[in-house]
Amino acid sequence: MSSLPPEALANKLMSGKDVSQALLDELKGELDAMKTSGAKLPKLVVILVGEDPASQVYTKRKAKVAQEIGMASELITLPKTTTEAELLTLIEQKNDDPSVHALLIQLPLPKHLNESRILNAVSPTKDVDGFHPVNLGRLLSGDTPPALPCTPAGIMKMLSFYKVPISGKHAVVIGRSTIVGKPMSLLLLSENATVTICHSRTKDLPQACAQADILVAAVGRPEMVTADYVKPGAVVIDVGINRVKNPETGKTKLVGDVDFASVSPKASLITPVPGGVGPMTIATLMANTLALYKAQ
Ligand code: NAD
Repeated sequence: MSSLPPEALANKLMSGKDVSQALLDELKGELDAMKTSGAKLPKLVVILVGEDPASQVYTKRKAKVAQEIGMASELITLPKTTTEAELLTLIEQKNDDPSVHALLIQLPLPKHLNESRILNAVSPTKDVDGFHPVNLGRLLSGDTPPALPCTPAGIMKMLSFYKVPISGKHAVVIGRSTIVGKPMSLLLLSENATVTICHSRTKDLPQACAQADILVAAVGRPEMVTADYVKPGAVVIDVGINRVKNPETGKTKLVGDVDFASVSPKASLITPVPGGVGPMTIATLMANTLALYKAQ
């Protein structure tokens, strides 16, 4: 943990836990009112193929949060041996089912399944992750779809909650995945940041990152971003979720892409791992489900 005194650290922490709880309370209120009025409830369907342990944890968590706020949800788990044809048939059924408003295919899929073919099969109107090419294209063109990719959209909500100025600021995003890095960059750009995207071939990464007023790390490398990557006073968002073994206890623990201990004294605001971006992603998934329901 950081060597900062607890009160100084508390002032710097962007608590995804607190912000997501506020968002979930709001959503629960809306769902309660819908129930009282006898309206049909929004329903989220999550499909998990295979037994990836991290994916099992994430999908169970998503179903649990849906249940906690009174959202209808269904978690479908399929064996690793599921064929592409079988999965496509199931997706088609859910696309055609009027009681389903949001459909999520948990990634990563087993290697024998073609990820883009599967994601493209989800109806754009039920695409709760915003990964369908139609929705990514709408994001690119500024015609914002009802459901934006959950992780970057959750980060934007958190920046807004903590009143972080974005317009005219220099944002650096490390990572160019379709799930996080690219949509994150577009969302920051849409709020008028000057955006730099860094990746595995970027030359002198620390120097590029040290220009950032807002630094987003979405790499998947434990504690890669150290103090020398960070401009004093920068806002640091840590997307990474890495499981590392503690050599002393032999137990695994979660760490981000940011070396919290060395970076937190330099940053003006920073997200912890866990309790930062992760909870915002799930709360945004719920908000997206409601948004798709309304759009339908
Ligand atoms: P990815 O593997 O698809 O992409 C990683 C990106 O990092 C790539 O674009 C690559 O170019 C870049 N990269 C790799 N090594 C690098 C290096 N040495 N220097 C600079 N850039 C480098 O991963 P992803 O799906 O974007 O996820 C990134 C991290 O975020 C992972 O730890 C993942 O578990 C986590 N994640 C968290 C949430 C959440 O809700 N908190 C959601 C999605 C992903």
